[in-house]
Amino acid sequence: MNNNILITLDYELFFGSKVGTLQNCILNPTNRLVKILDTYNAKATFFVDSGYLVKLEEFKSKFPLLEHEYQSITTQIRELDKNGHSIQLHIHPHWEDSTFDGKNWVMNTKRYRLHEFSESEIDSIVFRYKKVLTDIVGDKIFAHRAGGWCMQPFDKLKNAFKKHNVWLDSTVFENGMNQSQTHYFDFRNSPKKPKWHFENDPLVEEKNGFFREFPISAYKLSPLFFWKMIFFKKLGGDEHKSFGDGTAARGSTKDKLRMLTRFTNSVVSIDGYKSSFLQKAYNSFQKNKDNHNFIIIGHPKAMSEYSLKKLEKFIKKNNSSNFITVGELKDELYNNQKL
Ligand SMILES: [Zn+2]
Repeated sequence: MNNNILITLDYELFFGSKVGTLQNCILNPTNRLVKILDTYNAKATFFVDSGYLVKLEEFKSKFPLLEHEYQSITTQIRELDKNGHSIQLHIHPHWEDSTFDGKNWVMNTKRYRLHEFSESEIDSIVFRYKKVLTDIVGDKIFAHRAGGWCMQPFDKLKNAFKKHNVWLDSTVFENGMNQSQTHYFDFRNSPKKPKWHFENDPLVEEKNGFFREFPISAYKLSPLFFWKMIFFKKLGGDEHKSFGDGTAARGSTKDKLRMLTRFTNSVVSIDGYKSSFLQKAYNSFQKNKDNHNFIIIGHPKAMSEYSLKKLEKFIKKNNSSNFITVGELKDELYNNQKL
C-alpha cells in the first residue's frame, strides 16, 4: 500500500503585538503554495483559524476594511475547497476577547486555551467556529487541530467536540511539549502509534473511543539545528525571510533553552528552515512499516522562498498522488472500515 502524505496548514494571522496583514500572512503565501501544489496535482488540508472569520462577520458591517477582508478570505477558502483541498477547523478561542479598533486588531490572549472558558462557552465556540466554515464550504467539517496544540486536559472539551461531530484530530506529535503558562501541552506519554482512537484523553488509546487521533509526524533534532535556524533567520537574507508580516506571541525562555541545548522532537514542517529536513524525516518514517500517514504541518505566514523550494523538491521526488487531504483520508477509513 502506498503511503499517504498530508500537507496540513494552520491558516491564520499572528497573535503577537503585530497580527500582520491578511494579504501577507494568509492570502499571498497560500496562493504561492497552491501554485506549486497545482503543478503536481497535490492536495492539502487547511485548518482555518475560524475565530478570525467569526470576528470578521461580527465587525464587517461597521468597517469597510473588514468587509473587504471577509470577502477576500471567504473567496480564497471557497476556491481552495473547489479545487479539491480540504477546509477544516482550527480553534484559537482568544478571538472571543479580541476586538477591532478601526485600524488594528486588539488581541487579548489572556484566555489563549479553550480550557479558560466554561463548558457552555466551549460548546458555543465549537458550534460557531465550525458553522462559519460550513456556511462557506458546506457540511464537510469533521477534523480539528487545537490552537497552539492546547487540548489537554480534554475532559472539559470532549462534549462539545462530540456534540458537533468533530471526531478526527491532528494535534498530537510524539514527545512534543511546551512548558509556558499560556501554551501548556505535553505529549510525552502519547501512544507510539501512527493512529489511535480516544475518548477522554488524546494520549490514552480507547478502542471504541469516539475520536481518532492522526498525530503530526515528528522528527528528532539536535541543538545544532536550532542554532542554524536562528542563524539563517537572522543572516540568511531574503530567501529565509518568512512571508508573514506580523510578530509571533512569545514562547517561554525555558523551552527555547531546551531546544538549544538538548535533542528535542519537532513537528515535520514546511515552515522556514524546518523544511530542510522534510526528505530526511520522510526517509526515516518509511522505515517503520506500520506508519501509513506522513502528516506535515505548515503555516502560510511562516513559509519562505527557501521553504517553498524545499517543498517543491519534496513533492517532485515523491509520487504526487500520495499527497492527499483529510477528506480523502476519511473516505479511505470508511472504505477500509478498519483503523
Ligand atoms: Zn494556530
